[in-house]
Amino acid sequence: MRALVWHGKEDIRCDEVTDPEIEDPRDAIIRVTSCAICGSDLHLYHNFIPAMMPGDIVGHEMMGEVVEVGSGAAGSLKKGDRIVVPFTIFCGECIQCQRGNYSVCQRSNRKKEFADKVYGHSTAGLFGYSHLTGGYPGGQAEYLRVPFADKTHIKVPDGIPDETLLFLGDIFPTGWQAAVQCDIQPTDTVAVWGCGPVGQMAIRSAILLGAKQVIAIDRLPERLSMAEAGGAIPINFAEESVIERLNDLTNGQGPEKCIDAVGTESHVSFKHPDTIVDRVMQMNMLSSDRPHVLREMIYVCQPGGILSIPGVYGGIVNQFPFGLVMNKGLTIRTGQTHVNRWTDELLRMIEDKLIDPSFVVTHTADLADGPDLYRIFRDKQDSCIKVVLKP
Ligand code: NAD
Ligand code: ZN
Repeated sequence: MRALVWHGKEDIRCDEVTDPEIEDPRDAIIRVTSCAICGSDLHLYHNFIPAMMPGDIVGHEMMGEVVEVGSGAAGSLKKGDRIVVPFTIFCGECIQCQRGNYSVCQRSNRKKEFADKVYGHSTAGLFGYSHLTGGYPGGQAEYLRVPFADKTHIKVPDGIPDETLLFLGDIFPTGWQAAVQCDIQPTDTVAVWGCGPVGQMAIRSAILLGAKQVIAIDRLPERLSMAEAGGAIPINFAEESVIERLNDLTNGQGPEKCIDAVGTESHVSFKHPDTIVDRVMQMNMLSSDRPHVLREMIYVCQPGGILSIPGVYGGIVNQFPFGLVMNKGLTIRTGQTHVNRWTDELLRMIEDKLIDPSFVVTHTADLADGPDLYRIFRDKQDSCIKVVLKP
């Protein structure tokens, strides 16, 4: 079969590889009908997440048709079922799964011993996301083996296009969980850093959850326009001071809730300092350009507020002003998304036409064009926001 394969930094190719097979009774094999490129894939592309090996198949947003089912999954799946595959693999039985904490499932990471040494406690197995999360082949491919398939699936109805359902496996629940973690009140201002696909889903979710105002921060006009169309007030960080504008929009109080939908690869956004405090801030911000967004939101968030962080961070984060977090009494909530925890309510919202997540799709292409589309998505060329590939 054809698959997108990681060969090294900024080197992803469409290769001919061996078809997957059932390896465990709980497995299923799907024929992938659609898959997407995620902002998280860019961290692998840039080689920020260690433990990728040449030959690894990438991709963790995919859906398709079940073509083979192991005996242990036959009770819940059958040939011909249409499923979205959540990016977090989960057993459904361990203590964490029983709590709905699927992204920290204790059994699905088949390289747990290795990952525990690095992390203390490892995360769940993830598709196409390095040997720290199990080294499982990903779904930017014609076929995918789904481990623990009796649990790790989202059954979806016919009659709704792939593009509307595909994002149930990652970015839609990711934006939703980020907003839910904010405990949004009707009086809240929610500021969202990053208007990529995850930020867009977080913005729509915050609005659906009844925030008073939602503010969207980015520098790319087409992404800010999409956020504005969804009901947010845009701030272009390349043109204006984010902190000044956020304070203006909240009578000097700052937003009650802040969402970091950028993660480890943030650009520096500080603009036009002209007070001593601004200059100190700027020194602090520029002392190392990352994690820029995290510092900015700790600084501007209203005391007692919540920082919700779906953005991915790997390894050690330096220059993290924890004293400010403590003194302002901020709450930090973060994590990989517990995808299946949110499935029922999100699928219902799609069926009730409250939201159609396909609004983010700007590019659709053949799997073979994947390597070019990685570059285009990385460089935000051609107003690219979300890429869907058709194997
Ligand atoms: P993306 O790269 O398309 O979007 C990131 C956006 O952030 C870009 O539009 C960029 O212009 C903007 N940005 C950069 N610096 C900024 C700054 N200083 N201020 C404001 N905006 C800034 O990626 P995406 O697909 O939207 O993903 C966003 C993040 O979410 C990534 O870190 C990704 O790994 C993470 N993610 C997490 C989960 C999870 O389970 N927690 C799931 C999916 C994605
Ligand atoms: Zn993702």
